[in-house]
Amino acid sequence: MRAVVTGGAGFLGSHLCDRLLAEGHSVVALDNLITGSTDNIAHLGGNESFHFIKHDVTDHIYISGPVDMVLHFASPASPFDYLEHPIHTLKVGSLGTHKALGLAKEKKARFLLASTSEVYGDPLVHPQTEDYWGNVNPVGPRGVYDEAKRFAEAMTMAYRRYHNLDSKIVRIFNTYGPRMRLRDGRALPAFMSQVLENKSLTVFGDGSQTRSFCYVSDLIDGIYRLLMSDQSGPINIGNPDEVSILEVAKEVLAAVGSDNPIEFKELPVDDPKVRRPNIEKARELLEWEPKISRQDGLVQTLDYFKTKISK
Ligand code: UDP
Repeated sequence: MRAVVTGGAGFLGSHLCDRLLAEGHSVVALDNLITGSTDNIAHLGGNESFHFIKHDVTDHIYISGPVDMVLHFASPASPFDYLEHPIHTLKVGSLGTHKALGLAKEKKARFLLASTSEVYGDPLVHPQTEDYWGNVNPVGPRGVYDEAKRFAEAMTMAYRRYHNLDSKIVRIFNTYGPRMRLRDGRALPAFMSQVLENKSLTVFGDGSQTRSFCYVSDLIDGIYRLLMSDQSGPINIGNPDEVSILEVAKEVLAAVGSDNPIEFKELPVDDPKVRRPNIEKARELLEWEPKISRQDGLVQTLDYFKTKISK
């Protein structure tokens, strides 16, 4: 099949391109390179099944020839990035989703939306199940991402209901692994670059807030299963192994054998206090669950970061 991946030069988008190609599909990757990088797809140069087009998907998307699948992964995704690009974040979640859906409709293609655990906001239900509507502040600084993704889900549902589009929604929980940017501001890249550069680790607040980190290969596998299934979602994909941010900072220190100090900084506005996916649906409907432990995933990610720091 022929797939179009928006955000194809990003962290998740590029891993998705790799998986689609490995499964024998051909891929057209679109990216405006605001937060993505051609470094992430450089290894695909010369692969005849892969094409990259530098394009901002908030503008009309024109692709010649047949398209069987459209996977909409374009968006800044770290709080740091979406605070720096608030309007772009809103536009790619709204206008970009509309354009990507329009392409899928035109080509009679299957559509998959990369949504997020941020639709649950600072959750009052824990762990988060797909039927929870969330607790989002629309006017806070994170609202640009959360509300764009919530709009994107609503738009995807409208195309499903009104145009009968074969569409799927995955809600992605915190994911980490190779190809994250050293300075994307998220917790794990921050801690890893800090430990490798012999700086103190910046834990926000008292570090008691929790997240549940999924290794990228597990996440991509869940998404691929959803794509190939007859399920439409929304469906949570993430690793339910919940940990406090202070604890994960200590794990990064231990993985490197470092005793760099931890520096406590102000907690960002509306930072969710807890986050953990309920993955019963994914287990049951997709026969999926994560396999890579945080211990192994941290080592593999650190190995990648080491190659980036030494450059
Ligand atoms: N965080 C931190 N230090 C950092 C970056 C993030 O303590 O240098 C915290 C952040 O406040 C949040 C958690 O780590 O509670 C996860 O943040 P991240 O930016 O990775 O993603 P989020 O889950 O908030 O979207």
